[in-house]
Amino acid sequence: MTNGYFGKILWIDLSEGAFKEESLPEEYYRSYLGGYGLAAKLIYEHMPAKTDPLGSDSIFGFFPGLLTGTIAPLTGRFMVAGKSPLTGTWGDSNCGGYFGPEIKKCGFDAILIKGKANTPKYITIIDGDKQIIDATDLWGLDVVQTEEKLTEKHGKIQVASIGQAGENLSLISGIVNDKARIAGRSGLGAVMGSKNLKAIVLKGNNKISLADKDLLSKHTKEYNQQIQESKGGITQIFKTLGTTAGNTMMVQMGDTPVKNWGGTAKEDYPTERQNKISGMEIAKYKQKAYGCFSCPVHCGAIMKVSEVGLEETHRPEYETCAVFGPMLLNDDLMSIFTINDLCNRAGIDTISAGTAVAFAIECFENGIINKDETDGLELNWGNSSAIVELVKKMIDREGIGDILADGVKIASEKIGNGSHEYAIHSGGQELGMHSSKFYKSMGATFAFDPTPGRHTTPTLDFGSYGPIGKPNGLFEGFALPEGYTNSGENRSEAEKLVVGIWQSLNSLGLCEFATSFQKYPLLELITGVVGWDITIDELVKTGLRIQTLRQAFTLREGIDIINNKLPSRAVGIDYLADYKSYCEKMGWNPESAYPLEETLKDLNLGFVITDLY
Ligand code: SF4
Repeated sequence: MTNGYFGKILWIDLSEGAFKEESLPEEYYRSYLGGYGLAAKLIYEHMPAKTDPLGSDSIFGFFPGLLTGTIAPLTGRFMVAGKSPLTGTWGDSNCGGYFGPEIKKCGFDAILIKGKANTPKYITIIDGDKQIIDATDLWGLDVVQTEEKLTEKHGKIQVASIGQAGENLSLISGIVNDKARIAGRSGLGAVMGSKNLKAIVLKGNNKISLADKDLLSKHTKEYNQQIQESKGGITQIFKTLGTTAGNTMMVQMGDTPVKNWGGTAKEDYPTERQNKISGMEIAKYKQKAYGCFSCPVHCGAIMKVSEVGLEETHRPEYETCAVFGPMLLNDDLMSIFTINDLCNRAGIDTISAGTAVAFAIECFENGIINKDETDGLELNWGNSSAIVELVKKMIDREGIGDILADGVKIASEKIGNGSHEYAIHSGGQELGMHSSKFYKSMGATFAFDPTPGRHTTPTLDFGSYGPIGKPNGLFEGFALPEGYTNSGENRSEAEKLVVGIWQSLNSLGLCEFATSFQKYPLLELITGVVGWDITIDELVKTGLRIQTLRQAFTLREGIDIINNKLPSRAVGIDYLADYKSYCEKMGWNPESAYPLEETLKDLNLGFVITDLY
């Protein structure tokens, strides 16, 4: 009997209409944990190189973290992974809510899907009974309508579904659970849509066996109590404002990109404009807070915005406010509420959608496209009503919206006429709303991570590890070398340590924000759940294995990672030099970004060698 996990996964073949349970060797868990780690191992093993991500042979899946489903604080996350149709690379995305824990309640450590249904279908796994059911009546509905209809039919369930964007195979679409939590990045909504799969419905009552319940309870209670008693600092800010705390702060710091990465806050989006979309302004519409499973912080919020007819909507995150605010020189808060609701319902990634709007505006302002090509929309900076209409067109793939619905790289290839100058992306994916000029290490991460353009893959200078963090106090036994913020050996070593620990944290199911609040009893909680006597060093090495396998997946696809280039507007430091130093530390060839054979052997990734060499 295993503790913390079930030792089995579920395969669903939509072409065959078949379900198959598979037991996994125990060493998979110790070597890859769960989440991104288990995803990389299983998908790498089962999906051959060069598989069409939207073809029936493509595999994608849902992977809860190793600790997900237990009471360990902030561990309710799950990850969706597969080959990204947006970038052609490894694709993954991280999500909260209650769907991930329900996978465990159904008795599985992961659900993987392959094949393609001939007509729209949804899957149910309810109290052990598994079915594939006709979804013709759900096709065309948004995710809220879908979830409500399925709940009416099946009772209290957890649902992950695609909206109209995923159905329309928009390459910037995601998968949504809890009505508004979206695994938005990497275009995996289109992968689900390509399989004619509208939704997955889960309900289970399996219990996770625990190695040391008392140890787990003791540390969980202590941690949660400290969070509850915390009356100041970042914890309190998060409880009150969620990520919208960054709406003004990040702009003022110079972190938030302005005017499609071409402007400055001072000149283009000054304080009086920032204040119109501030976290405090947004909080006026808050009805109640909510959080993910096992989270004492509750950074989410349900809101009522009667002014635009939203009787119940979710608070937009910082990323959404940034990309539909300063990026577009838009300070109309009501339009941001409306767009956030539209995008959540349709299941479209707001970072990519907002960047596509910024691209279209800049093309319009510079005469590359005109009103004939925008279906009459006056796409000027800050024209909020036109921006809302353009988002609707992207969701429906109508007119200019059809061109933008696959992201800015593809849009610029279709439009031509020098429009690529305004297409801000890395390898096809739009960049997260954190400036790589502000966070030095973000340049290399945006450019060269196996899933390019992501801001939540590990990087040294961001989040708790960066200027606002306290990296050496986060976990017992975790410390970055002296002077790591300067250039040189220690900086590359620190980058490697952060990548290692962070990939493990993700794969354990831990929310990234956990590292911002207070010291986290990481090793004690792992011991309490799984019973392992594990060290920080082992977790770092495990994370390096996960990162290296993600890298190997992208290289096996024939992607020339090292020659990827960032748009000049996003370049701060010499990110290639930064990356080469990092590669050396990782045991990867700095000229090609290929992991060295001895590194692969040391990480027990020998099975990759014949693919890469
Ligand atoms: S801090 Fe927010 S995102 Fe993280 S687990 Fe809690 S509610 Fe979810």
